[in-house]
Amino acid sequence: MFELAVEVSFSAAHCIKGHPGRCAELHGHNYRVIVTVAGDELDEQGMIIDFGTLKEMCRLVIDPLDHTFLNEAPAFAEANPTAENLARHIYRGVEGKLAGTGGRRVRIDSVAVYESDRSFATYRG
Ligand SMILES: [Zn+2]
Repeated sequence: MFELAVEVSFSAAHCIKGHPGRCAELHGHNYRVIVTVAGDELDEQGMIIDFGTLKEMCRLVIDPLDHTFLNEAPAFAEANPTAENLARHIYRGVEGKLAGTGGRRVRIDSVAVYESDRSFATYRG
């Protein structure tokens, strides 16, 4: 099996409702997102997917979040915009874009969302 990953970043503000500490206050992060896909077969060029194609798909999902107040995004109307919920949101979005290509050769494996260099959450379906 092959795995391939791209990294995309964005900046946004959020607050974590119900948090007992400082995270309840409005603050921002420069998020780093690592999207990993997997596949068993290579195409005629020897790839499971082109890095650029995957990055474009990720941007389509992530750009609407860039420079926003995440708590007001429709995706987070019900759930706090934690790193965990962001990872699941991005996972489902990229999964949908991959399905739209019609190919079954490549599948999403995981999405890791870094709130800082040393703190991140990963979602796997
Ligand atoms: Zn935060």
